[in-house]
Amino acid sequence: MPPNFRYVQAKSVKEAVKHLAGLEARIHAGGTDLLGCLHDHVFGAEKIVSISRITALQGISQTANGGVRIGALSTVTEVEESPLIKRLYPGLAQGAAEVASPQLRNQGTLGGNLCQKPRCWYYRGEFHCLRKGGDQCYAMGGENQFHCIFGGDTCYIVHPSDTAPPLVALGASVKTHGPHGSRTIPVETFHMPPARDPRRETVLEPGEMVTEILIPPPLPGLKSSYRKVRARRAWDFALAGVALAIQVKDGIVRHARVVFSGVAPVPWRSREVEEVILGKALDRDTVLKAAEAAVKGADPMEKNGYKIPLLKAVVEEELAASR
Ligand SMILES: Cc1cc2nc3c(=O)[nH]c(=O)nc-3n(C[C@H](O)[C@H](O)[C@H](O)COP(=O)(O)OP(=O)(O)OC[C@H]3O[C@@H](n4cnc5c(N)ncnc54)[C@H](O)[C@@H]3O)c2cc1C
Ligand code: SF4
Repeated sequence: MPPNFRYVQAKSVKEAVKHLAGLEARIHAGGTDLLGCLHDHVFGAEKIVSISRITALQGISQTANGGVRIGALSTVTEVEESPLIKRLYPGLAQGAAEVASPQLRNQGTLGGNLCQKPRCWYYRGEFHCLRKGGDQCYAMGGENQFHCIFGGDTCYIVHPSDTAPPLVALGASVKTHGPHGSRTIPVETFHMPPARDPRRETVLEPGEMVTEILIPPPLPGLKSSYRKVRARRAWDFALAGVALAIQVKDGIVRHARVVFSGVAPVPWRSREVEEVILGKALDRDTVLKAAEAAVKGADPMEKNGYKIPLLKAVVEEELAASR
């Protein structure tokens, strides 16, 4: 049984932020993640603030500078199927298409996808682990086959979103609104590394919400893509994945952003791979060197060492395919 809570339906962003103050309040967008967490007592809530009727949070449109604005309430399906996004940022459309199942994509929103809670089975189960306010990580020395190989520090989750890595690769930002007004945060720094705070998933402050996602205009000829490997062909979270945003001019890579999914607690930008490919042709030698660089600094746990060859292979294949 979920806990008892008050439920309010906000009609504007201002009203939502007002409702979020005070009691232990939670935002309800599509509810696909929130309701499961409440049902399983991952966390409690005294008040649920639904934002689903706030029309200002909807819509996907081109901005004056040639980029795109996506309202936080846009469903994952809307992102996946938007002709504008498919044309300008195919990597993001591919990321959205990789999220969960069609039903969940129809109900889940982009804002919720970026703010969802991690899937560590200890966290989602009865264990009062570090992320839930306890004093230890049960994945260390436990069943850690789906945990991270980079950036673990104190908590070894993998970041669950398939839309965040392409958004980081594309240089996107989130716009937020909270008790202290609005701010714009690059998606690259939006998620909280465990080394800074193992109990928070994002840098959002209490009462602050995501209102829109802004993507800059793509560089001329920019190619973007997202590739995800999962254990089953049905819906599942990434074991490893890579989002690319690459500009090639005269056969040479002039711009590169490479971001991993499924291997770190936040979308993991691989500057190591970027350094190897920048200024080079994506020939076989460069691609193999980049695949080696992809796992530099990886620190696997007892049961997830398979992610090392998996990540290398995904990076190699995806870079070779982007030639
Ligand atoms: C079975 C299953 C499989 C899944 N598989 C995948 C997958 O493969 N890949 C993937 O990426 N995702 C996956 N998901 C996650 C799914 O994509 C998310 O549940 C969904 O996108 C969240 O959107 P929502 O609108 O339903 O969020 P909600 O459930 O309403 O909210 C999720 C969280 O974000 C907060 N929140 C929501 N909107 C905002 C906002 N605007 N500002 C600040 N905080 C906000 C809520 O308070 C809550 O904590 C899966 C989920 C399930 C249940
Ligand atoms: S990995 Fe993080 S969420 Fe999972 S048990 Fe350890 S502290 Fe908890």
